[in-house]
Amino acid sequence: MTTHVCIAVTPEQQQLSQAVAQFASRHAPVDATRARLDDLAAGRLPSWWTALVGNGFHAVHLPESVGGQGGGLEDMACVLESAGSALLPGPLLTTAIAGAAVASNSSPAAQTLLKEIAEGATAVMVSGEQAEVRGSRDGDDWRLTGSSGLALGMCSAQRVVLPFTDEAGALLWAVIDPAEGEVEARRGTDLTTDLGILSLSDRPVSASAVLTGMDTELSGCLTVAFTAAAAAGITQWCVDTVTEHLRTREQFGKPIGTFQALQHKAAMLLVNSALATAAAWDAVRALSGSADADQHRLTACSAAVMAVMPVPGLVLEALTMLGAIGFTWEHDLHLYWRRATSLAASIGPISRWTRRLGELSSTATRDVTVNLGESDADFRARVADILDRALSLSDNGFGRQGDYPEFMVGARRELLADAGLIAPHWPAPWGCDATVRQQLIVDEEFGKRAELVRPSVGIAEWILPSLIAAGSEELQQRFVPATLRGELSWCQLFSEPGAGSDLASLSTRAVRVEGGWRINGHKIWTSLAHRADYGALLARTDPDAPKHRGIGYFILDMRSAGVEFKQITQSSGRAEFNEVFLTDVFVPDEMLLGDPAAGWQLAISTMAHERVAISGYVNIDRMGALRELVEVSADPDPVLHAIGEIDAYTNALKALGVRETLRLLDGQAPGPTSSITKVATNVMLRRAAELTVGLTGSLALEQDSQPAVVAPYLDLPAELIGGGTTEIQLNIIAQLILGLPRK
Ligand SMILES: Cc1cc2nc3c(=O)[nH]c(=O)nc-3n(C[C@H](O)[C@H](O)[C@H](O)COP(=O)(O)OP(=O)(O)OC[C@H]3O[C@@H](n4cnc5c(N)ncnc54)[C@H](O)[C@@H]3O)c2cc1C
Repeated sequence: MTTHVCIAVTPEQQQLSQAVAQFASRHAPVDATRARLDDLAAGRLPSWWTALVGNGFHAVHLPESVGGQGGGLEDMACVLESAGSALLPGPLLTTAIAGAAVASNSSPAAQTLLKEIAEGATAVMVSGEQAEVRGSRDGDDWRLTGSSGLALGMCSAQRVVLPFTDEAGALLWAVIDPAEGEVEARRGTDLTTDLGILSLSDRPVSASAVLTGMDTELSGCLTVAFTAAAAAGITQWCVDTVTEHLRTREQFGKPIGTFQALQHKAAMLLVNSALATAAAWDAVRALSGSADADQHRLTACSAAVMAVMPVPGLVLEALTMLGAIGFTWEHDLHLYWRRATSLAASIGPISRWTRRLGELSSTATRDVTVNLGESDADFRARVADILDRALSLSDNGFGRQGDYPEFMVGARRELLADAGLIAPHWPAPWGCDATVRQQLIVDEEFGKRAELVRPSVGIAEWILPSLIAAGSEELQQRFVPATLRGELSWCQLFSEPGAGSDLASLSTRAVRVEGGWRINGHKIWTSLAHRADYGALLARTDPDAPKHRGIGYFILDMRSAGVEFKQITQSSGRAEFNEVFLTDVFVPDEMLLGDPAAGWQLAISTMAHERVAISGYVNIDRMGALRELVEVSADPDPVLHAIGEIDAYTNALKALGVRETLRLLDGQAPGPTSSITKVATNVMLRRAAELTVGLTGSLALEQDSQPAVVAPYLDLPAELIGGGTTEIQLNIIAQLILGLPRK
């Protein structure tokens, strides 16, 4: 796997994934699999199964006490993902699911089965929804009659974990050793995994084979989580295959990867693959890290919606980028497409999951808290002490940034600012040089004190890091503390009428004069310029330099002579951004950050901080109106599905964020998440708004309805366009992450 997203978070998990990939390429290249399709359909085990068992890949997640490797569910998910990506055929997934489902059961039947699986027996667990098996008592034992329904891996299974109902209708589980003639093979959609039905007629089953105390709900969640891991692997194969094809296939005299239509489709495939991977990982993580059944259900539903059900469509999308070659029997794509379709069918339909999640999310939300343990106890105690002291103080009015609680100023804010707790990741003395772990501790401690509103510096959140990095000591002393205290407000003077997405083509001109720079130009879309004290301004200092060079990053006093602004009314009716006209504005030398020609790098850093801040919008609940609608609607069904759909998307996005945090906590370099998250956030925001408007009916007739429907909808473009459009982020993903050619 060469893609940029995979379930593995730790280096050990990455090694495990690679080991499985190497095993697959050595023992089960796709050509060899193709030559054995009939054998596979008949349930005959691949010749390398013993070698796989020898490596312990099938029992990574089983306890050492039964002969397993003693790893966690996340480790097994890495194995399944890697096997999915390599199209490893046969009963690995079904056996892994059966083992995991039974591992939490302490009955003798479970222990026997686990030992058998660890030794190499293949197994399948039949879904409770699928099977129709009745059990009748035969002394202490049972006689079972009925059908398993279609089950993947049934023909190759040496053990079947089968649900049946007793005379009173209670659900029980038994381990069956299928006898000759009891399994009928069926022609499967997935050519690399057998499909069959187990039929029992008055079949004696010993009481010792019954799994007493099976947790059916947990087994269902495990099934989805592992299925999602396998499906995520398929999406990663798609990204790799498409990227390679786009780089090498030429049309119109150039690689087709230079065409923007394909760059965007490939980038979107990566975004969806990242979401699928994160959702699968989150489902497994919830099962291994939390005893809370609601967390298992929430993440399983999300994984079904985000990581299993969409995958056939993603493979089809990949096919369209390959052209006709992707539609041939010889190309491997259809084998993945078939498997993806089959995996989705094995847990579908999707409505089951969206509806369930819609209901669940009225009472539960995904808890994405990272367990920080006891480390940094002194830091935590200091933060807790300061926050407690802050609680005893109060602020006394709104600051320069606006009339929101996070912009209040006064003694409380001052204490937090002086302690470095408003932006703890900034270097001391402005922040407290907080490590990732310490930032999370600050988040947690604020979170524990609901009545303490966390102060914000607004737009300065993404401007001041550049000032701190490149501004003089004097400049920092002048601006940073006052901004933290809420006494200064800021704006960002980057965009121009002729320089939007192509910001580096800006033409505002800075000419050197005695003691500073004379600036002329026209800025636009400048949020809050009408109330800003200072602005971060990009202006061209050297018109002869290449366009990304020769740009200076200035701090502009908005009250300087020659600065005029005109408010622009947005389509929503509000007026929050402005045109700013600069006529012979003098900016002293000390207000230039860094080298006069190297402002572009600082601008990039500002925009990256902005993107990260905007991605935090995912934590805002977008479904308030839909949740209220559920309560009053005569037909809440479509609304519950909509809530489920958006919640699944939101949970996957949150999981992406947590994975990044864990990587950073582990000391690893940041992953490519900021552009991926921005694109995914835009997709989610738009879908949530459209579903809300579409489902709330006449509420959308009124601009200021209660609950608010149309007002947030009409404000949506601010989130979609501000901080850079989706298309620009897709360009970045395609060219910088996937490495597709520019021209
Ligand atoms: C609410 C809001 C607040 C804002 N606040 C500020 C601010 O405070 N300071 C500031 O400097 N700016 C601000 N902006 C401006 C914002 O950064 C720009 O609107 C944005 O970068 C897009 O530029 P544009 O509007 O000129 O659109 P254009 O660049 O003209 O884009 C139009 C369309 O063309 C597409 N497009 C352009 N180039 C490409 C390409 N290479 N490949 C594919 N598609 C392309 C875009 O994606 C878009 O769909 C704000 C914008 C909004 C909406």
